[in-house]
Amino acid sequence: MAYDFDLFVIGAGSGGVRAARFAAGFGAKVAVAESRYLGGTCVNVGCVPKKLLVYGAHVADELEQAAGFGWTLEEGHFDWGTLIANKNREIERLNGIYRNLLVNSGVTLLQGHARLTGAHEVEVEGQRYSAEHILIATGGWPQVPDIPGKELAITSNEAFYLKDLPRRVLVVGGGYIAVEFAGIFQGLGADTTLLYRGELFLRGFDGSVRTHLKEELEKRGMNLEFNADIQRIDKLDDGSLKATLKDGRELVADCIFYATGRRPMLDNLGLESTGVELDPRGFIRVDEQYQTTEPSILAIGDVIGRVQLTPVALAEGMAVARRLFKPEQYRTVDYQNIPTAVFSQPPIGTVGLTEEQALAAGHKVQIFESRFRAMKLTLTDIQEKTLMKLVVDADTDKVLGCHMVGPDAGEIIQGLGIALKAGATKQQFDETIGVHPTAAEEFVTMRTVTR
Ligand code: FAD
Ligand code: NDP
Repeated sequence: MAYDFDLFVIGAGSGGVRAARFAAGFGAKVAVAESRYLGGTCVNVGCVPKKLLVYGAHVADELEQAAGFGWTLEEGHFDWGTLIANKNREIERLNGIYRNLLVNSGVTLLQGHARLTGAHEVEVEGQRYSAEHILIATGGWPQVPDIPGKELAITSNEAFYLKDLPRRVLVVGGGYIAVEFAGIFQGLGADTTLLYRGELFLRGFDGSVRTHLKEELEKRGMNLEFNADIQRIDKLDDGSLKATLKDGRELVADCIFYATGRRPMLDNLGLESTGVELDPRGFIRVDEQYQTTEPSILAIGDVIGRVQLTPVALAEGMAVARRLFKPEQYRTVDYQNIPTAVFSQPPIGTVGLTEEQALAAGHKVQIFESRFRAMKLTLTDIQEKTLMKLVVDADTDKVLGCHMVGPDAGEIIQGLGIALKAGATKQQFDETIGVHPTAAEEFVTMRTVTR
């Protein structure tokens, strides 16, 4: 049977664009449907605008440090509107780049919501298209618990378009987004509270990292409320919001921001017209090659809920394009040792096993841990400490995990990701000459076992 397209991609986000471009490059006839914004979450309401706001907040640190280096500055003034307008301009520029990337690689771009109408058929704006393969790359959407007053809260989607910087912000959640946005609001001058339901935020990260970040955020004056959960939210007469906690306490803020995870985006996708099944968490079930339970339909990225990171969606998109149209180049995605950063203030960089994971996996571990005041701060009054930690297998000498909290952690951890992928040992770390004077050199000069 002749199909309109070899591959029909639903969603022009990180994963969808990568798969579409490469499939077209391999000679396939490809269409992409996008209902909202080119580049998806990462470009529009995720990684990119988030990082721009993080840079904005970081300027406050530079200003605070300036006096130690002899600079006298007039009192600074921050204008949220300017930052958001400049950010919006940059996002529009990137949207244009994504459009060109797709069109120039020969992909047919369809604007509108796509709905599956069969195993080989998609409907967009009343028009039906057939395809040999269909790729679902529809991403995710913020999830807010069902409590009274939840409509008064915002999520990351709205945070990027707030008209003004709220004076008092209550951020709910203890994952990447909560920690990053609490840092943005705090850095830009808002009175910020981070409220998390558990003992300590960033569950799943290394214990030393979690504790260290908690201490540093407290030094910066952020209010941390752990073991706390909101029961209801009410609007007060003056327009501010009151959060009533389950323990009866009340917190008042101008903005309540929920960052309590993301659900797969399956709204009106028409899965019921296909044999596509969901896993027990509600994400699309796929096999090792991203094939759903409907053989002609594949799925990648946040909608499969494996690792919700842009570089992972890109790798999955690439794998699908190769498997379908360049099988001789097909390689599976390696989910081991994925380096990642949390762009908190200060940021976290991490790759490999945490101390807790290494112990649970039965490794006999040696821990190398270092806490120091970065050289840059020695001429200032700032007492922030950097943390670096190596988790080493005592039997094989292999480095199992590298963890850092401190300036440029995301930049530093990328190279260590390569070392771990190559299976580096602690001895090889020790034999690597440091770059002096940097903070990064600490990773190759830690000699004393901490425990
Ligand atoms: P998406 O990028 O979400 O793309 C899905 C696309 O599909 C969207 O454009 C959507 O409009 C479209 N779509 C959905 N349904 C339909 C339909 N029926 N028809 C047509 N189009 C449809 N990751 C990092 O690696 N680093 C970071 O620093 C980082 N920061 C983040 C910050 C925030 C605030 C958020 C929310 C996420 C962040 N992420 C980060 C995660 C990253 O954005 C996602 O993992 C990534 O975007 C997933 O890519 P995707 O292709 O699966 O989906
Ligand atoms: P996460 O899954 O990382 O964190 C969700 C947080 O919300 C957890 O602390 C969780 O607590 C808490 N939570 C969940 N449900 C509830 C509830 N009903 N009530 C109260 N608290 C709740 O999600 P995020 O929204 O922060 O981010 C989504 C994903 O996007 C991330 O996992 C990450 O993969 C990606 N991302 C990556 C970034 C980066 O690379 N820098 C930046 C931002 C996002 P508990 O731990 O107790 O379950």
